[in-house]
Amino acid sequence: MSGKECFEVLDKIFIPIKKQTIGKIRGYTMKYGHIVENGEIIDEVLVSYFKEPKSYTTENMCEINTHGGNIVMRKILELCLKNGAELAEPGEFTKRAFLNGRIDLLQAESVIDIINSKSEKEAKTGIKQLEGVLSSKIAEIKQEILDVMVNIEVAIDYPEYDVEDVTNNQILNMLTSIKKKLKKLEKSFDNGKLLKDGVKTAIIGKPNAGKSSLLNSILNEDRAIVTEIEGTTRDTIEEFVNISGIPLKLIDTAGIREAKDEVERIGIEKSREIAENADLVIAIFDSTNEFSSEDREILEIAKNKKTIIILNKIDLETKVDENSTELAQFSGNIIKMSALTKEGLEDLYKKIEEMFNFNEINVDNEILITNLRQKNLITKAIENVEKTEETIRKNEPLDIIAIFIKDILEDLGNITGDYVTEDIINEIFSKFCLGK
Ligand code: GDP
Repeated sequence: MSGKECFEVLDKIFIPIKKQTIGKIRGYTMKYGHIVENGEIIDEVLVSYFKEPKSYTTENMCEINTHGGNIVMRKILELCLKNGAELAEPGEFTKRAFLNGRIDLLQAESVIDIINSKSEKEAKTGIKQLEGVLSSKIAEIKQEILDVMVNIEVAIDYPEYDVEDVTNNQILNMLTSIKKKLKKLEKSFDNGKLLKDGVKTAIIGKPNAGKSSLLNSILNEDRAIVTEIEGTTRDTIEEFVNISGIPLKLIDTAGIREAKDEVERIGIEKSREIAENADLVIAIFDSTNEFSSEDREILEIAKNKKTIIILNKIDLETKVDENSTELAQFSGNIIKMSALTKEGLEDLYKKIEEMFNFNEINVDNEILITNLRQKNLITKAIENVEKTEETIRKNEPLDIIAIFIKDILEDLGNITGDYVTEDIINEIFSKFCLGK
């Protein structure tokens, strides 16, 4: 519970050991006792106390640790509600921390990212952001703008003062420096997005090439931690696997499996569709048969993508030569393996690691943007920097330039939540699960 009166609610349902007065308990302490209703003990609990302003929300807070289990927890929740508490909205605790000024919007969003993270690196990025690394970067850029802005304002408002004139060149230099910093942040989203959403991976190939077998081999491996998420289209499931810290989102197309008994044509069309939006294409071939025209079509699809070619079924007698001319352009990215015996699976993993070397993304030293809202605002800020540059080149008066510079400040302010609207705040916090 959080809020001014939460201790009063607690007082009605909790009897601490030695019947200590709840108001007298110090913050950052934990008390043992009982939750009671009409003199009857509901559960034996531990309650943690946080006194304003030193709490997650900056308000008075308490947390009741029960024995868990649905019945007791529900009962205690009911008792809290009956005695004056209200049920929290999704993300309400974090929202209060934001509205009360303890964290900015970037930090609030990082809480969602930490909770939802699917790999250690992603969690680490979230934690860094919660510590305010990105916030200070934005603040640094804002300060740079403000410094020039102050000079401009003085020159506009008090022309009679003998302040040093701000020259157009000075403003342009400042803008160049800001643009460079913003561009770097914008660029970091490429990696940030892969880290957060996973490398979208499509396994394509003719019916019977071994797509399902490969998928199963990967999913059944101990080292691949799997989370199943609903796909974007009705007949796909997306499986999240974590291979040596590289998050892969495998697009598992149920439709392709069904196509096995249908004409091969359908399989190829499907392959084309899913390969189109993938970050990585794994094209798999049954190497016990020579390449057919469909296989060549699959190669054609894979051509313009980041691709790994799998020559499958090497446990049997093979007829495909990895040095053949049609495979020449994929050389270095060809894996010979058996999806059935898992021979060569390690080679596939090594290749993926090599292609998406997340170790090179230095999570410790690099600021990564992982959130689309933040990225869009940075893009907008860059556009406004460019508009301002244009205004200066056209030799517009200072007060016009000042208006454009204020727009950049506003974009940056929107990122950290200085001036966001209630709608945006509600949208952001609705993404939280309950009770966070
Ligand atoms: P898909 O249609 O591409 O999904 O292909 P499947 O994974 O269903 O495989 C088709 C058939 O080939 C199945 O009978 C598999 O058991 C078999 N198969 C797949 N990979 C291998 C392999 O590496 N070696 C052998 N011997 N059989 C395989």
